[in-house]
Amino acid sequence: MTELLPPDAAGVARAALLLRGGRLVAFATETVYGLGADATDARAVAAVFAAKDRPRFNPLICHYPDAGAAFADVAADAAARRLAAAFWPGPLTLVLPRRPNCRVAPLAGAGLATLAVRVPAHPLALALLEAAGRPVAAPSANRSGSVSPTNSAHVLDGLGGRIAAVLEGGVCPVGVESTVLDLSGPTPALLRPGGVALEAIEAAIGTVATGSGGPLRGPGMLASHYAPRLPVRLAAEQVGADEALLAFGTPLPGAGALYQLSAAADLREAAANLFAGLRALDASGKTRIAAMKVPMRGLGLAINDRLARAAAPRTAGLA
Ligand code: AMP
Ligand code: MG
Repeated sequence: MTELLPPDAAGVARAALLLRGGRLVAFATETVYGLGADATDARAVAAVFAAKDRPRFNPLICHYPDAGAAFADVAADAAARRLAAAFWPGPLTLVLPRRPNCRVAPLAGAGLATLAVRVPAHPLALALLEAAGRPVAAPSANRSGSVSPTNSAHVLDGLGGRIAAVLEGGVCPVGVESTVLDLSGPTPALLRPGGVALEAIEAAIGTVATGSGGPLRGPGMLASHYAPRLPVRLAAEQVGADEALLAFGTPLPGAGALYQLSAAADLREAAANLFAGLRALDASGKTRIAAMKVPMRGLGLAINDRLARAAAPRTAGLA
């Protein structure tokens, strides 16, 4: 049985106790729900991969209650400190060199010399991290290859019975995963677009290297990721009778089933609704999802990245 814990002090205390005992607890962040494990406990980290049916040991993001705690495990340079001051708590993950005394189990970082760290902007997540008193490794709380969860019902859909608890935290306000930025090389590199816009990062630290075209790839990111059950057709300009429409702005005419990401064509609103929309259209009874075009600016980079992955040929997912 998976416990559903209330979003209060007692729920946080119970969640922290479970985490400290090596158990798995899903919790809300501002991006999506994370599947948390004590990052210093290799057995707990291994249990994350097992619960998700992750076919490979991808590096996981470690979560901290503040930048001071994060930078005890990784070496932060001036750019990292500036970004932490500007965007933490928030949906930005920094990949930095592990310090020699890093507490995080090597398995959590897939044996790499670098570690991905983040301070989430969600009061319950911060309270849990504070109470846990140790880094918490947390990939998205979904089975491998499926759409990331943005409410507790999504988590229970995929992981109910496989994890100790879910800390109820309502609907995730950002709705797409964090931006992953690699600061361990000679120049900053975008590994995954996400909740902090590239333009905002470049305003803080200057030019960031990006992959050209198509889904970006950090280690362990396959093209097919974030996949709904139905196939997805991108940049749709009309809708077929067998298709469910993922609308952005004025919907294409004639859709029999429709999910509106944002009637006002607001990219933040669309990002927040994206994964719930893919789930809703999966249940529409149609045979394919037709996604309308979303502009490539601001959070549009993250939305288009997730849609491109959802539309990619299906291989063993690594979500
Ligand atoms: P998820 O936990 O599902 O949000 O995915 C985390 C992603 O962060 C991974 O798939 C990697 O692409 C990226 N990541 C985590 N750790 C590292 C690292 N040490 N170096 C580069 N990328 C990383
Ligand atoms: Mg994931």
